[in-house]
Amino acid sequence: MAVVEVRCPECDSLNVVKYGRQPNGAQRFICHNPACNRRIFLLNYRSKSSSATARQQIIDLALNGADVEETARLLKLPTQTVLEVFQMLSRFSLPAATPRSSGRRSAPPQAAAG
Ligand SMILES: [Zn+2]
Repeated sequence: MAVVEVRCPECDSLNVVKYGRQPNGAQRFICHNPACNRRIFLLNYRSKSSSATARQQIIDLALNGADVEETARLLKLPTQTVLEVFQMLSRFSLPAATPRSSGRRSAPPQAAAG
């Protein structure tokens, strides 16, 4: 059986124990170093850096005028992924005061039959 040394990412302490699981099943750990600012952490965060890099590449291409399909093809990413970033960008470029329509209309009361 392999033993994996788990260190706190904040204070580098080895004084950590398992602390349940995330809803997605990832193992959580808690740091027992009283001086540590961060107590609960995950051992493996889901490829955060690579997705951030991909997002930056999408943004760069978008600023250079590439459309969704072209960006997806160039970066070898799913079109849906590129589309989500484009949608996020378009949200940021909208003016702050967008008029909001007043949602759904309430259904008229049912007429009593008979
Ligand atoms: Zn710690």
